[in-house]
Amino acid sequence: MAKRVLVVEDNELNLKLFCDLLRAHDFAAEPVSDGREAVAKAREFAPELIVMDIQMPHVTGYDLIRELKRDPELRAIPIMAVTAYAGREDEERIRSAGANAYVSKPISLARFMEEVRALVPAAEVEAAEPSEDSEA
Ligand code: MN
Repeated sequence: MAKRVLVVEDNELNLKLFCDLLRAHDFAAEPVSDGREAVAKAREFAPELIVMDIQMPHVTGYDLIRELKRDPELRAIPIMAVTAYAGREDEERIRSAGANAYVSKPISLARFMEEVRALVPAAEVEAAEPSEDSEA
């Protein structure tokens, strides 16, 4: 089963880029371009990871991260923030809102996927377990 990633990003080009990238790496990506729909979508899609833009109209990524982390049903979902902010202060603000990771724009695709993989461990447990009835 493909791991599900919810991508919340108001910029359509970035939204498409992130979703295409995730799908190319066998994730099931669900796009959300309006931050106001993010929490309901998270409940519906039950993602294993949320990629969250910070600067959006109507509602900021900070507010959404806080809301998600206050929700008993959704708080366990790791959140990877993406933002053009690069300052140390911004990174601290993002982390104190509750984000588990932070990637700054312009995005390095390799670093983006590295962070995704760190937050969504691959389901290799079954393959790694030696089968009980296997005899050499
Ligand atoms: Mn934005």
